[in-house]
Amino acid sequence: MPRLKIDENLPVVHVSDRSTLENLTGSWRTMAPRLRPEKCTGCMLCWKYCPDACIEMIDGRPVIDMDHCKGCGICVAECPPKCLIMVEEGAR
Ligand code: SF4
Ligand code: SF4
Repeated sequence: MPRLKIDENLPVVHVSDRSTLENLTGSWRTMAPRLRPEKCTGCMLCWKYCPDACIEMIDGRPVIDMDHCKGCGICVAECPPKCLIMVEEGAR
């Protein structure tokens, strides 16, 4: 089996072996998505692209689990009618 060559000049990255459900975001998020529901078409692209799988579609609209949302903004970038926007944490 090939062995990884460790470069001592690179930072050590710890990868969790636990489910993302166990990894709460904590207090470090600086931006968060906010939905303007009147413009949402229910296309589910935000649900599909969220890397944390923390968006649930309820009655045709996305509901974001903010305990797990990392504030990456991918859902905002992928939303066709731009009804998701990023706001500063605490401004939700
Ligand atoms: S900001 Fe990122 S983690 Fe949060 S709901 Fe959107 S895609 Fe998911
Ligand atoms: S991507 Fe935008 S329009 Fe589509 S379901 Fe999500 S919030 Fe609604």
